[in-house]
Amino acid sequence: MLCLGIESTAHTLGIGIVNSNGEVLANEKSTFTTETGGIKPGKVTEHHILMYDFVLKRAIEKANIKLKDINLVAFSQGPGLGGCLRVGAAAARALATYLKVPIRGVNHCIAHVEIGKHTSGFKDPITLYVSGANTQILALAAGRYRVFGETLDTGVGNFLDSFGRALGLGFPQGPKIEELALKGKKYVELPYTVKGMDFTFSGILTKLEQLAKNSELKTKNSQLISDLCYSAQETVFAMLTEATERAVAHINKNEVLLTGGVAANKRLAEMLQLMCKERGIKFAVVPKDLSGDNGAMIAWAGILENKAGIKNKISETKVNQDWRTDQVEVIWS
Ligand code: AMP
Ligand code: MG
Repeated sequence: MLCLGIESTAHTLGIGIVNSNGEVLANEKSTFTTETGGIKPGKVTEHHILMYDFVLKRAIEKANIKLKDINLVAFSQGPGLGGCLRVGAAAARALATYLKVPIRGVNHCIAHVEIGKHTSGFKDPITLYVSGANTQILALAAGRYRVFGETLDTGVGNFLDSFGRALGLGFPQGPKIEELALKGKKYVELPYTVKGMDFTFSGILTKLEQLAKNSELKTKNSQLISDLCYSAQETVFAMLTEATERAVAHINKNEVLLTGGVAANKRLAEMLQLMCKERGIKFAVVPKDLSGDNGAMIAWAGILENKAGIKNKISETKVNQDWRTDQVEVIWS
């Protein structure tokens, strides 16, 4: 069984090909980037339309298969940007109809979790899922990935991207902030906003934007920029680690998984690793090539759900921009 997975929720158009053992035969992508500023929905949608043919061909070549060898087409049905989601859904419908194979719309957030479980071998982790638009602490309970804590405003990735934008960096700003933070020497006091199991980032962003505006940043004081990046990371990653630790204390599970685009950040992984070590539980982080949005994770989620007997009719493939993680019944795990 070969599944082709199409990811198109936001900045990345990804096409992955995965077999029923979970071997990734191809994981090709094209990511929309900018020199300065953020991503504009119309422009990203256009990017996905224009790059589809190219990414599909590369994935088929990389997997060293023929298109007709595909037995299942999976796609990200939500959550995400409407225009972007519709490009992936339309492509998936066309491909499944042409190949006369089943189609499966998968939840993007759950795909991030499942690929992390697959690569770590963890069976029942508490997952810190950190990406651009989403930030959630998840664990399986009574047949669903329940949300034990989450952001009350933006995702931590969007927070980092917006802060980076204030510094004049281009999208995605998260990796550039990680680099600058390594040169940080002085911790600048910032708000720390954990509310029970949840967290918010917008107040911290406002404070950082004020500091950036009021300071010598205009004259490109590079040490100050590095200090702010360092302080931003230390603050929000400590918040995420604290809330995850509280989940660990309350829920009786002994594995913590870090997944999603921001999981590529070494400092965040280091903090969680330390917390897990102190508590004597296992920790794993998803590999970098599978951390950000990608087609392989969609294909793998498609394989799992298909094995459990779940398929869609074409009429059931309408995209769902606000599809929450805890709305999905997880009958395959
Ligand atoms: P995703 O939507 O899951 O692909 O995640 C994308 C988000 O991850 C964007 O907001 C990026 O800025 C962020 N990101 C990617 N790499 C890093 C990194 N090394 N450190 C912090 N954030 C990152
Ligand atoms: Mg994502």
